[in-house]
Amino acid sequence: MLNIEEAIKRYLERHTRSSMQCRAALIDMDGVLYDSMPHHAEAWYRTIAPLGIACSREDFFLLEGSTRTRTINMFYNREYGCDAPEDVSLALYEEKVRQFRALGEASRMPMADVMIASLLSHSVRTVLVTGSSQGTLLELLDTDYPGAFNMPYRITGEDVKHGKPSPEPYLMGLQRAGVAAHEAIVIENAPLGVEAGVAAGVFTVAVNTGPIPASALYDAGADIVFDSMPHFAAHIDKLIEVVNTTKL
Ligand code: MG
Repeated sequence: MLNIEEAIKRYLERHTRSSMQCRAALIDMDGVLYDSMPHHAEAWYRTIAPLGIACSREDFFLLEGSTRTRTINMFYNREYGCDAPEDVSLALYEEKVRQFRALGEASRMPMADVMIASLLSHSVRTVLVTGSSQGTLLELLDTDYPGAFNMPYRITGEDVKHGKPSPEPYLMGLQRAGVAAHEAIVIENAPLGVEAGVAAGVFTVAVNTGPIPASALYDAGADIVFDSMPHFAAHIDKLIEVVNTTKL
């Protein structure tokens, strides 16, 4: 049962604070703003499975947000007990990108525009925090979410040394927005992204837009889990209000 107020109180207790505020929203891209995860998972599956390595599409949903090296080595170790040589790893990644492009354009996540409009109407600063450097979706942002992610409020895989689950991308997001951890929320869909948001000390909302169980998002530390983007979009006004008014 979803209880927003309890979730916020648990966050405040954990951080020994009496109140928090929603001045900025640090927002992941794949699986939040775009329904691109099925394409990423399919592209990885079409790259790794032909090697004879046992894997499923769901494996790649669980690994969302991890680096090329980490993803490929996980499967290499599973099959061969060692990391993939760098040249092999690079060639496999090239193949994954080729497969991703072949699947065509990913669509905007249904109702994500409503979520963004709601944040903007409450004067919440929106900041993109993605591990992706893939130009295709980044170019679409201005068209699909006009005014929401102008520079410098856009952090990509190129801007950070350590990707999610490291807190670095979200700490950089806080810095760009000019707010403290208790003055923001993170909006994520993947366990590793949730870990990153929590490690940055930010109240982390998980929106479960893929096939993984909600428990995987709670296990990663999510403060609250919504079971779809329409579900979150229907509750976001309430969430912002409760974030801004709950006191311990
Ligand atoms: Mg994501």
